[in-house]
Amino acid sequence: MNTTPPKDKPESSVKEVDWSDFRDHIATADREGRRQWIYPRKVSGKFFRLRTWFSWLLLFIMFAGPFITIHGNPLLLMNIVERKFVVFGQIFWPQDMIIFAIAVLIFAVSILVFTTAFGRLWCGWACPQTVMMEMVFRKIEYFIEGDAHQQRALNKAAWDGTKIAKKFFKHALFYALSFLVGNVLLSYIIGWQQLYQIVTDPPAQHVTGLAFMIAFSLLFYGIFARFREQACTFICPYGRLQSLLLDENSIVVAYDYKRGEKRGILKRAQKFGERRFAGFGDCVACNQCVSVCPTGIDIRNGTQMECVHCTACMDACDSVMAKVGNPLGLIRYASLNGIERGERLRFTPRLGGYLIVLAALAGLLAVMVFTRSDVEATILRAPGSLFQQMPDGHFSNLYTVRVVNKTSRRLPVKLQLENLPGHILVMGGELVVPPQKLLENSVLVELDSGAMKAGTTPIVIGVYSDDKRLQTINTAFIGPRD
Ligand code: SF4
Ligand code: SF4
Repeated sequence: MNTTPPKDKPESSVKEVDWSDFRDHIATADREGRRQWIYPRKVSGKFFRLRTWFSWLLLFIMFAGPFITIHGNPLLLMNIVERKFVVFGQIFWPQDMIIFAIAVLIFAVSILVFTTAFGRLWCGWACPQTVMMEMVFRKIEYFIEGDAHQQRALNKAAWDGTKIAKKFFKHALFYALSFLVGNVLLSYIIGWQQLYQIVTDPPAQHVTGLAFMIAFSLLFYGIFARFREQACTFICPYGRLQSLLLDENSIVVAYDYKRGEKRGILKRAQKFGERRFAGFGDCVACNQCVSVCPTGIDIRNGTQMECVHCTACMDACDSVMAKVGNPLGLIRYASLNGIERGERLRFTPRLGGYLIVLAALAGLLAVMVFTRSDVEATILRAPGSLFQQMPDGHFSNLYTVRVVNKTSRRLPVKLQLENLPGHILVMGGELVVPPQKLLENSVLVELDSGAMKAGTTPIVIGVYSDDKRLQTINTAFIGPRD
């Protein structure tokens, strides 16, 4: 019989969730891990008005973008399938990928610099997710279902005719808008002309395009109707980067705890002088800042990863402060140092470092853009073709020539053998490349057998336009081995 006493159960390394600590759990899940639906109250105020006007401008740019052209090219096109990228009307061909990569790097470093200095200003004011959710979908929801308390009551109510009608109307509108947004996104990928063809041609001709259309619509419907703030708190990598990028000098939406604490409900007819004498601060514990927050957090707990800097709590608190006759800005744009020590925005060594990297990259980009050649040509032997011997004794090879014209004028191109006597015959007449386009053609190169080596002969082809040599290309000419 085993008489060894049982060993003590090993201590679990899993830490219990402290539900009283806001940093230990997220506001959108309960103890069982179920979704806690957020019902943010309608907000109004100075910042909301400014954001509304700004969002109209952004929405106009977003919806009009695919139709705006510069030199006949779209404002922005990210055609990954055809590897064609257009930024501000400038086509970036696969040959320009280094320039494109540096531009993307500059964009990323700009985000670092901007975020270090100004926090998540982008998220609250310009991110398409926030703009669409708070300025379009949320407003439709308020219009159909009412403010937060009415939405709560409607969701708890039994399914009667009114509830069915409201829900149907809301979700039909949500889906229609999602379809529109999905199509706008698609037109930034394939161009509106191709999108128009998908819409007008018989469905069987564009099965893939239609599949993407439906997939994008369902994706956006899912995000705006159900997933909502979780896109910012669970998915968005930019939100996750905040803890790395922000420091005590970054400007964030912040609660002035020095002024606000200790919190306490404002008693009827109580003067603020009396409150302060009793040890209370300006926060009257009305919870208005929490009730308007679309991510369900309490900004009085300090800067949190979930905060998208939407300014709703600033407006809500300002309206409370105005009512009780206190200065506005208890919740405001400020840095931690600004609140603790009254410091203004400082130029920190980290910010300086980012700016040096940014300036170096911008300089490199400028050099590459200004020294970028206007024409890029490639000449490759036609796949699977062999040499041919002509009746006059010459040998010929078939090639495919591809010429990219990056200028905004038509470009007549001539090809000429540079190192050996011979001829180049362009199939189908002259090579004239339309502005900002790629032209592909077949060319026949003829060499005299006397100029050829056994097997492979290296040849050099010059690419000319207006008698000016733009490029030379080295390639190989195949002939008989003996
Ligand atoms: S809205 Fe202002 S006063 Fe009211 S709880 Fe929030 S911080 Fe305090
Ligand atoms: S804490 Fe304020 S700024 Fe941050 S998400 Fe909530 S309401 Fe918006």
